[in-house]
Amino acid sequence: MTPFTSSITIEFLYLIATALFILSLKWMSSPKSARHGVWAGEVGMALAIIGTLLDRHIITYQWIAIGLVLGSIIGVPLGKVAMTAVPQRTALSHAFGALCVTLVGIAHYYGEIPDVPKFTMGVLSAEVILGSLTFTGSLMAAGKLQEVLPQRPITYKGANFVNLGILSVAVAIAIYLIVNPSHSALFPLIIALPLAFGVLMIIPIGGADMPTVISLLNSYAGLSAAAMGFVLDSKLLIIAGALDGSSGFILSVIMSKAMNRSFTNVLFGAFGQVQASAAAAGEAKTVRSATPEEAAGILAAANKVVIVPGYGMAVAQAQHKVRELYDSLTKRGVDVKFGIHPVAGRMPGHMNVLLAEADIPYDKLLDLDEVNADLPQTDVALVIGANDVTNPAAREDKSSPIYGMPILDVDKARTVMVIKRGMSPGFAGIDNPLYYLDHTLMLFGDAKAFVGDIVRELSGSHH
Ligand code: NAP
Repeated sequence: MTPFTSSITIEFLYLIATALFILSLKWMSSPKSARHGVWAGEVGMALAIIGTLLDRHIITYQWIAIGLVLGSIIGVPLGKVAMTAVPQRTALSHAFGALCVTLVGIAHYYGEIPDVPKFTMGVLSAEVILGSLTFTGSLMAAGKLQEVLPQRPITYKGANFVNLGILSVAVAIAIYLIVNPSHSALFPLIIALPLAFGVLMIIPIGGADMPTVISLLNSYAGLSAAAMGFVLDSKLLIIAGALDGSSGFILSVIMSKAMNRSFTNVLFGAFGQVQASAAAAGEAKTVRSATPEEAAGILAAANKVVIVPGYGMAVAQAQHKVRELYDSLTKRGVDVKFGIHPVAGRMPGHMNVLLAEADIPYDKLLDLDEVNADLPQTDVALVIGANDVTNPAAREDKSSPIYGMPILDVDKARTVMVIKRGMSPGFAGIDNPLYYLDHTLMLFGDAKAFVGDIVRELSGSHH
């Protein structure tokens, strides 16, 4: 290939890759086309890599090959983690991406000094600042989610002031470097300070807010990649980075809304810090429990049932048993729907993915508003491993840390049945008054085993 045809080929590959990235995001917005979306993203990325490898500026492929092998060795096992570990896995990907962006920025700076054009120095500073704070921030977030680090927010007086101060100094140095790019002794500071900021930024944020923070870090990683696109003069990187940056930002906003928290509250609120549980207050409240046989009888006698799945269903991998329960009840003429809370589980769309895996018809999945309109006319609300998303304290108790979060009003159903293993709290670490109501029955056990027992009872009895 002549240099001319090869550069046309590369541009063409990049164009198709760009189109595929955009289509990928569009298709991923609906469960019906989501698989196509994943394919489009993968093919787009493969084309982008091939295009880059064809670049005639490449002198030797030796290091690239080593990188590809190392990347695959790390990437393949990362792709196989359990669904519940996806948030921390995603955080690790952001950390790697951000580290890569930062290293490219550093190499570029030292390759160009002493004459770095002002524009290049500006975007390069944005690249390394965002890249390095995303690197340590994402590592911290992954550590908190994996519970390698303490989940509780760690705060001290004036923390926000110190953090913003560090970031401001880094930005001020960056501005100085734009004017005097040859003062290279200062350059390491616009990496070191954001690295420290990344750690300090995450320390005061509680584990329950980590998924939101991760999508925000996703957004930063995207923006730093876009800045790198300007530095390297790559349109593809600019576009892909911008798509990544904006989609991450939109997702964080959606998640904050679903928890009724402002963005600033998630970032600076140190949520989940003081959590006095009912047990700590010394109150001995009683709950009523029931056996699978009794639960099966109540379900079989109902006309309308709403199933509310949560994190516990995911942990127990109970979705296929839930499908059997759905089949068995539907066969008896019971109207069964699913109430899906936007932050049930540990990542957006968690419940939708699991129920889709078990082939539960998508039109049976109702969102918050639809379900809450239905619940007062519902005979049985069956809560499977969900807790926080059903907690009436969010509606009633102004002192509750989740006060104001929209919840599924399962307490409005005629009978509530809750499958969970014991009285442990959910992610927010708080007690749930739902369990002490007169019309609530606790079904103690592992979600998969208990639902399986109910299904067996239903098929054994002759109604
Ligand atoms: P949750 O409040 O975390 O409660 C899950 C419950 O499942 C626990 O109380 C636990 O009780 C039970 N459980 C665990 N393993 C089980 C098993 N094997 N069988 C049966 N039950 C089991 O879950 P959620 O109601 O789904 O709420 C999600 C929480 O995560 C919310 O606080 C939300 O704000 C937060 N969050 C989610 C997202 C997201 O994107 N989805 C993002 C940010 C924050 P036992 O130990 O007694 O069994």
